[in-house]
Amino acid sequence: MNPKSIAKKLEQLQALGERAIQGHLDEAMLTCGTPTCGCHKDPSRRHGPHLYLRFRDLNGRSRSMYVPRSHEKEMREAVKAWGHMWQLMLELSQMNREALRERLRRRPRG
Ligand SMILES: [Zn+2]
Repeated sequence: MNPKSIAKKLEQLQALGERAIQGHLDEAMLTCGTPTCGCHKDPSRRHGPHLYLRFRDLNGRSRSMYVPRSHEKEMREAVKAWGHMWQLMLELSQMNREALRERLRRRPRG
């Protein structure tokens, strides 16, 4: 395969890898820590929506991270960057697979 295009993808991966975050964003309505607050009796008075990143840690356990609205844009871009990395890796995989297929085709027989 074209080594230039592989080099370009690796360069893009490196740039994306500096900010990419795995997971998905989820919004939730919550009850607060004040027992007398109306949110505890009436679901319509729950607080939010609050933004969370849902992800799996390195041990495969489900985790959440609260994301303040001040950092929503940064987090959304980071999650998008992860998706872009994944797409680039699939493309690299295809290129490497095709290159191996080509080498197998040309291997000496016998
Ligand atoms: Zn409350």
